[in-house]
Amino acid sequence: MKIIIQKFGGTSVATEQNRSMVADKVIDSIKKEYSPVVVVSAIGRAGDPYSTDTLLSLINNNNIDMEVENREIDLLMCCGEIISAVVLSDTFTKRGYKTRVLTGGNAGIITDDNYGNANIIDVGTENILAILEQGIIPIITGFQGITEKGDLTTLGRGGSDVTGAVLGDALNAEYIEIYTDVDGIMTADPRIVPNAKVISNISFNEVFQFADQGAKVIHPRAVEYAMNGNVPLIIKNTLSDAPGTTISTSRKKSNNTITGITHIANRTQITIFFTDCENNENNSIFELIGNNNICIELINVFRDQKIFTIDGNDQAKVDEILNNSHVNYRTINNCSKIAVIGNRLIEVPGIMAKILKTLDENKIPVLQTADSNTTVWCLVMENDTIRAINALHNAFCLEK
Ligand code: ADP
Ligand code: MG
Repeated sequence: MKIIIQKFGGTSVATEQNRSMVADKVIDSIKKEYSPVVVVSAIGRAGDPYSTDTLLSLINNNNIDMEVENREIDLLMCCGEIISAVVLSDTFTKRGYKTRVLTGGNAGIITDDNYGNANIIDVGTENILAILEQGIIPIITGFQGITEKGDLTTLGRGGSDVTGAVLGDALNAEYIEIYTDVDGIMTADPRIVPNAKVISNISFNEVFQFADQGAKVIHPRAVEYAMNGNVPLIIKNTLSDAPGTTISTSRKKSNNTITGITHIANRTQITIFFTDCENNENNSIFELIGNNNICIELINVFRDQKIFTIDGNDQAKVDEILNNSHVNYRTINNCSKIAVIGNRLIEVPGIMAKILKTLDENKIPVLQTADSNTTVWCLVMENDTIRAINALHNAFCLEK
């Protein structure tokens, strides 16, 4: 049996016409003698009747930290994928194909009880294999699992990608296809850079950086599962026949050092000021922040100040910690962390210089920078994001 995974995102299952294109893709692979396992997200986007955001808006959730509430929020969110899986199965039935809808739990996805962002601890494949052996198409509700005690959980936003990848790994699939509303992974989000171009081949490492640094097109954990199982991952458009992006361990040589640009908005930059004798005391602040489960990024340490950024959602907690510690500090909120992603960047001189020159020429102030072998980061003000990404996209000749 040549098993493949075909995962379809929210817009792919939003209308009868789109669902018919989904069926075309699946039936086409059956004709090529593959055994497809279909994974679906909830129908549509915020505002559409059964999307995850619409379901969430039905409850006024004031106390998101209470475990009992988070459990129930997960129950509510799981409905979205159940609806889309059953509706899609109807499309196949009308075309004469037999399907079986499986929830995450039915599909053997066992998680811990970290509701809202559960971790997968085991995957049992017996149910799916038994269905495939009967020549029936399994349709799995993405984004969800079940605890060992039998409570439904969700895997975090974008989690249907994770479902697809974890099943691809567990079932030893030939490949995993992630179908969405763009022609593949692009040099930048096409909603920000209209002339961004599709990348035909990319390595797992680079795409992981892309995903981890804000490119919504694929979930970073999905990239990890596919990479661990060494299962090729292909990103494609449900509504076109474009070849898409193939992600694998090897990558075709390209002339460009820079692969693409992405960003994460809503960052807050914090600068702590201190005198020399306060220096040691101040080191415990990072520990305090870490103990509160808050991640610190872009850290620069100087004799008289420490500068770092945090997720803007964590600002109230960090303010509390800093105020309780009686330190002198300044915050700049509404920042955006731009990530320029490439290959072996440290071996290529002049990249940071070119980035800084480009931003300077466009009068975009840079608040902080950092670099690694695959990424150069620049912190800018959020309202400069679109201009900064377009200027860098141009400067590195990434356009079509
Ligand atoms: P789905 O519901 O199919 O999972 P998502 O909205 O999660 O779709 O992901 C697709 C979206 O990701 C695209 O519409 C695009 O705007 C956005 N995106 C962000 N960065 C990139 C990128 N580098 N390449 C392609 N798409 C990107
Ligand atoms: Mg997605």
